Amino acid sequence: MAEKLYRLYCEMCSWNRYTDGTDIQDLTEYKRCVVQTGIPKIDPVTKKVTTKKPISLPKQFRCPKCGRLVTARKVVEPPPVATEEEIKDENINSGSEESNVGPEIPPVPPASP
Ligand SMILES: [Zn+2]
Repeated sequence: MAEKLYRLYCEMCSWNRYTDGTDIQDLTEYKRCVVQTGIPKIDPVTKKVTTKKPISLPKQFRCPKCGRLVTARKVVEPPPVATEEEIKDENINSGSEESNVGPEIPPVPPASP
């Protein structure tokens, strides 16, 4: 399995494709400009111009079927459902262990006469 997997999905014609970025030669990439964030500032101490890092937009491609722009989305793995169940089980187990010890009982205030 490739480490970086991207999904291209067209909402118009339901064209769907998975790629790791190496087999997209047949697709037409839509060139996007780099978005600059903030304005360049001069550091009063070093007298150097500091600029914030520009945002690189996700790649877009033209749908081979209908020509609509499709944004490449990163596929996140592993499946989150199984992981949540494992975490819940761990919580239940740890909770039962604590119950053996017994919950911490707050000190009882002296009874007023
Ligand atoms: Zn399409």
